[in-house]
Amino acid sequence: MNARFYDVIIAGGGIMGSATAFYLMKADDRLKVAVVERDPTYSQASTTLSASNVRIQFSLKENIQISRYAFEVLEKFEDEMIVEGEKPRIYFRREGNLFLVDEAGRRAAEEALALQQSLGCPVEWWSPAKIKQRYPLYATGGLVGGTFGPRDGHFDAYAVLMGYKAKARSLGAVYIKDEVGEIVAHSKRVSGVRLSARENLSAPCVVNCAGAWAAQLAATAGVKLPVVPVKRQVFVLHTAVKPEGPLPLTVLPSGLYFRSETGGLILLGKSMADDPVGYNFTWDDKRFMEILWPELAAFVPAFDRLKLVRGWAGLYAVNTLDGNAILGEWPEVKGLYLANGFSGHGLQQAPAVGRFLAELILERPLSLDLSIFRPERILENRPLSEGGLV
Ligand SMILES: Cc1cc2nc3c(=O)[nH]c(=O)nc-3n(C[C@H](O)[C@H](O)[C@H](O)COP(=O)(O)OP(=O)(O)OC[C@H]3O[C@@H](n4cnc5c(N)ncnc54)[C@H](O)[C@@H]3O)c2cc1C
Repeated sequence: MNARFYDVIIAGGGIMGSATAFYLMKADDRLKVAVVERDPTYSQASTTLSASNVRIQFSLKENIQISRYAFEVLEKFEDEMIVEGEKPRIYFRREGNLFLVDEAGRRAAEEALALQQSLGCPVEWWSPAKIKQRYPLYATGGLVGGTFGPRDGHFDAYAVLMGYKAKARSLGAVYIKDEVGEIVAHSKRVSGVRLSARENLSAPCVVNCAGAWAAQLAATAGVKLPVVPVKRQVFVLHTAVKPEGPLPLTVLPSGLYFRSETGGLILLGKSMADDPVGYNFTWDDKRFMEILWPELAAFVPAFDRLKLVRGWAGLYAVNTLDGNAILGEWPEVKGLYLANGFSGHGLQQAPAVGRFLAELILERPLSLDLSIFRPERILENRPLSEGGLV
């Protein structure tokens, strides 16, 4: 094939593609790295449609370690990503995550807490009385307590994406506006990609960072990934009663979550079993009015008067095997690397994933071994357990 040659081609320039490009270029700025992104406005990317939360509260050791690295990176991000004197502003706000626990969830919550604390993470067990004292608007009946991570928080996901992208470009990565129509592989080895609009690109290494479109892209190389796009909705609320001070990301045992947003607003969402699979970006105020609002008002009675300001829908790239990341080289196609299936927690995983993939591709020592997420487990049908916190 007549093609431009690169060392690494990254398909998809969202947070995963851009973080991977950055860590590759940081490791070796002589590399030729191309990031192919079909929509530089990122209008449907999960990265820009997410709730932008980062938490230490996972129940799998590696996911905890991944978030710990995200904290480290986010704290220094604005200084590290400076390009020609311009600092990204990422508004990292550590307002905490509070996971509420009922009797049914007590054991899993206690086990996760014990693991987090054994790793030195600052997560606390709060009694219902303590929750009520800190957040008097909450109705704590039916709860046995909650786990509070005071260092958890949220940030401006678009700014972090732009920060990685600008820095990767300043180090020499090339962004190409096009669609990867096909990953080309012969004799179980990758040789490049076919673009939809321009010439083909050739490389011994292709990284699939196509988010919710990952399975269809992988299929072009004959790889069957258990990753499906699932619509998730987020709602923005103006409540008549304003809480005193910011509310942490508060997660009910049912999975309903809400937190303070800038401008005195509340951001709310919930993953539901009937959320449709497919590329559907319409949001639906009826879902909020009929299902989520009554549930919210039962827990925060003061929120029975509010205005739904706006909403949006984005896609989780759900790994149907276990809801966890699929990371590394696909065992049956040499040179094809995957960073897929992050479900609802990929944003916070991008720093550790980008660094891991760069080290893997360049055969460097691993700063954090994430081989537990290797793609072999898909072929072996061995799911990882994350205690339902996907
Ligand atoms: C409502 C919602 C809330 C969320 N909340 C959180 C949260 O609080 N915390 C958290 O950590 N995570 C959260 N997530 C998950 C997180 O957003 C994703 O896991 C993460 O952004 C995935 O990044 P990505 O780069 O893999 O995918 P994306 O950001 O979707 O990027 C993929 C890119 O690939 C491009 N692309 C696809 N196919 C091709 C192709 N063939 N050729 C060229 N380009 C292509 C797309 O245009 C897109 O820009 C949330 C997601 C949603 C939808």
